[in-house]
Amino acid sequence: MMLVIVKVIAYFFLWTLYSYSVHRLAHIPHKKNFLYKIHIVHHRVQYGDSNWPEFSNYFFWFGSFKASLDIWLTLTLPLIVLVFIDPVPGGILLGFHYVYEVFLAGKVVDHNPRIRGIITRWLSIGAYHLKHHDLYKCNYSFFITLWDHIFQTTDKKFLGVRSAKERRENLDERY
Ligand SMILES: [Zn+2]
Ligand SMILES: [Zn+2]
Repeated sequence: MMLVIVKVIAYFFLWTLYSYSVHRLAHIPHKKNFLYKIHIVHHRVQYGDSNWPEFSNYFFWFGSFKASLDIWLTLTLPLIVLVFIDPVPGGILLGFHYVYEVFLAGKVVDHNPRIRGIITRWLSIGAYHLKHHDLYKCNYSFFITLWDHIFQTTDKKFLGVRSAKERRENLDERY
């Protein structure tokens, strides 16, 4: 039992590292970048009034082929592979992924502007993830913010670099 818990935690970190990497690749704008083409759909989604999922979401279909493929490649595929390698922890994570994606990933948690403050320092939800929608070039992590902190892609880092650059440009103009 203990071993299963340790494995679930270890695989969770690997899974979030994988999804962080794929998401980051999906933000490289290029006409041959297949990931970019399917991911831009996510950045156009408007969430309706209801907190309940659309009926098709229960079947892991997220409105369009591109939007669904984006989720399958970024989050589902590695867990399917894991189920074949290590079925019990793989199955637990796949169950978590299903429930999270169907019930929470929309406006309830991930895209909920009312979730803000200290919790978004640790979890990539609410205001933290919405800053990814505003600024594009930061906050790529899913579930936990860890990988943005490790690879220095948080919104704070991004805005810090941008304002330092603007200050430099202002100075250049003056002299
Ligand atoms: Zn994105
Ligand atoms: Zn989003």
